[in-house]
Amino acid sequence: MNAPNKSGWKPAMNADGESIGGPATHTGNRALMLEEKLIFEIGGTDTTGVDLPAPDLSAPRRMGGLDRDARIGLPGLSEPETVRHYTRLSRQNYAIDLGLFPLGSCTMKHNPRLNEKVARMPGFADLHPMAPSTTTQGALAVIHELGEWLKTLTGMPAVAMSPKAGAHGELCGILAIRAALEARGDARKVVLCPESAHGTNPATAAFAGYEVEDIPATPEGRVDLAALEARLGPDVAAVMITNPNTCGLFERDFRKIADAVHAGGGLVYCDGANFNAIVGRVRPGDLGVDAMHINLHKTFSTPHGGGGPGSGPVVFSEALAPFAPLPFVEKNDDGFVLVEEETAGDRHSNSFGRMTAFHGQMGMFTRALTYILSHGADGLKQVAEDAVLNANYVLRKLEDVLHAPFADSGPCMHEALFGDKGFAEGLSTLDLAKGLIDEGYHPMTMYFPLVVHGAMLVEPTETESKAALDQFIGAMRSVAERAIAGDETLKTAPHYAPRRRLDETLAARKPVLAWAEPAAE
Ligand SMILES: *Cc1c(COP(=O)(O)O)cnc(C)c1O
Repeated sequence: MNAPNKSGWKPAMNADGESIGGPATHTGNRALMLEEKLIFEIGGTDTTGVDLPAPDLSAPRRMGGLDRDARIGLPGLSEPETVRHYTRLSRQNYAIDLGLFPLGSCTMKHNPRLNEKVARMPGFADLHPMAPSTTTQGALAVIHELGEWLKTLTGMPAVAMSPKAGAHGELCGILAIRAALEARGDARKVVLCPESAHGTNPATAAFAGYEVEDIPATPEGRVDLAALEARLGPDVAAVMITNPNTCGLFERDFRKIADAVHAGGGLVYCDGANFNAIVGRVRPGDLGVDAMHINLHKTFSTPHGGGGPGSGPVVFSEALAPFAPLPFVEKNDDGFVLVEEETAGDRHSNSFGRMTAFHGQMGMFTRALTYILSHGADGLKQVAEDAVLNANYVLRKLEDVLHAPFADSGPCMHEALFGDKGFAEGLSTLDLAKGLIDEGYHPMTMYFPLVVHGAMLVEPTETESKAALDQFIGAMRSVAERAIAGDETLKTAPHYAPRRRLDETLAARKPVLAWAEPAAE
């Protein structure tokens, strides 16, 4: 198969034994596309990049019988070899600094370099969480000011800053709801979540000990108000509703939903992960929300790719404020005070406890406040408007080729939702996503929300220019047209990536997490 052709060179093959055009290279590299072995396979495991004195084996052993009796088997690379290994790997990664990231329900956004600079200031970055508050006034001022912004932007009277991610914030909100209901001797059992809810919502409610029941959606992709009202009763503790929802739509009936839930004695949790679509334009407090988390990492920048840090402050209504978790930063005449304990009789006396050991994600607070202050109130409003404009542009430019189930439900918010209807037999959303990799894009969110068959959720975000959107739309159109026409080559895409289609199911079911040394010959 690898026979030389007429001019004497062998064609380069991919892992599936297909010619990929051009001659095979000695290294397997293709110009700047560099092949990279596992770190254990470079250099070998019986060398070391560090000079250590030889151990004196005649000296008494002091390991208490725990001496190593096998080879350690660590990769033994020099510093430059190690740096090159990780740099080469990093070049096979996709990043927001390389191109548009269409992932929906995620808001992979802009990470302004200014944020990074501020977060690294030693006065913030090197602070010990147990330093006395007289020495940490600046950091407490940041937490306090960010909290004030969050309260103002959401129209809510109280905020808990310590939860460390969206899901953690949900738990915080639901625990406050549970504490409030228990305080009035009305422990209810059921939490209602819409069908299109993010998986964390039912998981949170179940974790807090509630039974979870679905609320159906209308054909236009919003919560079915009539069905919700019919289900309300003395056993319903709360509803958890995402607004804007995961179909990318604003829940126009939210106020009516909240009023109905309150009339039935329940409380209203709003999943605020999508707040960036409405920040500066809508105050959730005006819609009757009792608790809402804000994913700082989705709305106020901060890198969060690869599972990086999150931060999920929770804003509370008057009804829930007394139950919010400790600690709080308060301002008095002497400066900022960290309230770490409940004080009988004051407004923290009903706090349900703590979510974290310390005060929250300081590195994210500095980034979020930097982002907020550098945009200002008008800039934040423009962020929301531009995010929505960009998503609607993508929706309208693709709806003639991709099935857009809610295209008639009015403008979308910050994300555009498509389904796989119309694809040729045998071709799926997964194939389109793999084709998009060949076009040089990280694929959009797939198969979520579950209410749409073969869902593709695209969130361009406000930072993309029209030129960048047009190129992405062109790539989506091209791959979608191939999926509709039944182009079989899509089934084996990606063709140009360093690795082809991996068996993701096998990798998930039987992960090989440790390198095994090949048996000696
Ligand atoms: C991202 C997201 C969450 C969870 O937030 P994490 O910070 O990832 O824990 C919850 N709900 C919705 C709608 C989300 O998009």
